[in-house]
Amino acid sequence: MKKEWKIETKISHYAEERGNYEGAVVPPIFQNSLFTFENWDAIDAAFDDRINTSIYSRGRNPGVNIVEQKLAMISGGEKARLFASGMAAITAAVMHFLNAGDHVIAIKNIYGPANNLITVYLKKKMEIETTFVSGNSIDEYKAAIRPNTKLIYLESPSTAIFSIQNIESICKLARLKNIKTIIDNTWASPIFQKPLNMGVDLEVHSCSKYIGGHSDVVAGLVIGNAVDIDSISVNEFELLGGKTAPIDAWLLMRSLRTLPIRMKAHQESSIKVAEYLESHPKVETVNYPGLKSFPQHELAKKQMTGFSGLMAFKLKTTDLSQIKIFFNSLEIFKIGVSWGGHESLVYAPAISYLKELSPEQFAGLGISLGDMRISVGLEDADDLISDLEQALKTIN
Ligand SMILES: *Cc1c(COP(=O)(O)O)cnc(C)c1O
Repeated sequence: MKKEWKIETKISHYAEERGNYEGAVVPPIFQNSLFTFENWDAIDAAFDDRINTSIYSRGRNPGVNIVEQKLAMISGGEKARLFASGMAAITAAVMHFLNAGDHVIAIKNIYGPANNLITVYLKKKMEIETTFVSGNSIDEYKAAIRPNTKLIYLESPSTAIFSIQNIESICKLARLKNIKTIIDNTWASPIFQKPLNMGVDLEVHSCSKYIGGHSDVVAGLVIGNAVDIDSISVNEFELLGGKTAPIDAWLLMRSLRTLPIRMKAHQESSIKVAEYLESHPKVETVNYPGLKSFPQHELAKKQMTGFSGLMAFKLKTTDLSQIKIFFNSLEIFKIGVSWGGHESLVYAPAISYLKELSPEQFAGLGISLGDMRISVGLEDADDLISDLEQALKTIN
């Protein structure tokens, strides 16, 4: 495998030692809980290097490890660990850097369960304090730093409001102040954004989105340097026990073989769809980092080499019955949560927010009833546009 080969070339073959499985072009699923040893000395030696040796599948599993090596390679990290879900990965990464009483700076509107983890659960269990910043100016971070600040938690682009943070300058400040950084890189995928090269300590993903890409796996990922990942392996990974199932890792290996071309296809269609929506008289605004009209488009282009397929737009109408007619009229876009799969999806954030918030709180979020979140899948872009067109025709 040549160093200069592109990721598209390496991704399928990297870390697959086919000689070990009779040349099978696809490595097997190692569906086993434990590994057996020849004798006393062999198992004794295994325990001396338990991070890199397969002893028990809550620790290392060879099939899972192939996928971890591929993901570390794609992201430019030294090591990666797969978890049972994105939230298991986020929990492990956050707890790795925090001790009781520490302070966290997080950007506003991070993924909801990550917000609950830090501001509700860890606050109660470990007296963790959090300051939220809008994320647009470095001075905000400087002003938020306290003597006990140990972590800056980023999500760029953020998946609720698509805010972009200046990753390099935030990480520079963090390193100067001995503060660790985590970024949720799920939106861009490891193909379009390499935060570890910009100075981030740990990169986390929900593999349930683009990395899986087929809407058949829930899994998560943490990538970083060997010291951090080895520590996570023996602590948060083995102790909290949120491991991936061998079959799920195997499905992710299948998914990785097409990740670069899927991301290209998502990008191509998404830009077409976003530009169509932006030009439509019944659409008020489109929020998509790939659009030239996006307020932080220049920063987004500087940090990412491409744009994925999750976006939001606001219908002009504020009449709930009209909004529901539009929502229910879509045929190709299926109604559902999550995103990043082969299938296009639509969701209205108001549905969940209105259950949790008062109308005043809801209004304060800057989200409205007519906000539609769509995930542009791998169907034909012109068909997707026709579907939106016919649904928009049904309303005033
Ligand atoms: C879905 C998601 C997660 C959580 O991942 P799960 O695999 O569902 O646990 C975390 N961050 C972002 C941005 C997500 O969209």
